[in-house]
Amino acid sequence: MSIQTIGIIGAGTMGNGIAQACAVAGLNAVVQDVSEAALERALKTVSGSLDRSVRKGTLTEADKDTVMSRITTSTSADSLAGTDLIIEAATENEAIKIKILQNVDAIASPSTIIATNTSSISITRLAAATGRPDRFVGMHFFNPVPVMALVEIIRGLRTSEATVEAVADLARKLGKTPIGVKNSAGFVVNRILCPMINEAVFALQEGLASAEEIDAGMRLGCNHPIGPLALCDLVGLDVQLAVMEVLYSNFNDSKYRPAPLLREMVDAGMLGRKTGRGFYTYDK
Ligand code: NAD
Repeated sequence: MSIQTIGIIGAGTMGNGIAQACAVAGLNAVVQDVSEAALERALKTVSGSLDRSVRKGTLTEADKDTVMSRITTSTSADSLAGTDLIIEAATENEAIKIKILQNVDAIASPSTIIATNTSSISITRLAAATGRPDRFVGMHFFNPVPVMALVEIIRGLRTSEATVEAVADLARKLGKTPIGVKNSAGFVVNRILCPMINEAVFALQEGLASAEEIDAGMRLGCNHPIGPLALCDLVGLDVQLAVMEVLYSNFNDSKYRPAPLLREMVDAGMLGRKTGRGFYTYDK
């Protein structure tokens, strides 16, 4: 089956990025969210991002209009009925996702593949909430979606090879490189990245060096484009803590214990860029 229309559930940070990537690649995107305001914000965000491409000269005004015309929005889940593949990118909460998936499983055609962009919930467990565990898969995009080139394709225990191939093809169509990953907490990238950031917080807590020096060390010594503490501010300290807690509880290995300073900063409301203060201070 040729995949031409993608249903996207959730119009937040990831949902609008996925919609933009699909529309730029010539696919239609039907974005569904419970919040009308989130849908409006999503269209504004995509439009603003395309405007930057127009200013840079990589897109014409006419192309921008064509891309925008491929994105439709709705607050009704019924709008997903005619789509060829559905990507769930709603709030990271297992109970919410299970409810969404049970509902969409009943609406979508039996042959439709359902993918989830979850960062931390077991693909096998989410698949079991649907009547199509063979046509259920993890499709983990990276933020910002239009820029980041990777998609982790995560197989649940019952995901079929045909499903993995279909979503890997879609990722390539979006100009991304897919990597196949077994279902396991943190998948590959967060399993490696988040403990590295956590270790940087330990280094800061132990007074090994200042935040600026730790970040300069990893930028200049390892060629990372951004230091781990600045990256943590970008991702959000609360998100970083949540990932470490998932890794710690899944593997029960002390190497994943969250740094106490990270927890304390989250308790203090210092969540990084989004609150104006984290390891660095930001102007609002
Ligand atoms: P977000 O909070 O920006 O957006 C979530 C959206 O889901 C909101 O607009 C909300 O209104 C909507 N929503 C909530 N309940 C819904 C429902 N029942 N039906 C339809 N829409 C509903 O979240 P986000 O950062 O875009 O994350 C979305 C998913 O992507 C999560 O699973 C997250 O773990 C994953 N993810 C996030 C990032 C990131 O950097 N933000 C990276 C990779 C994966």
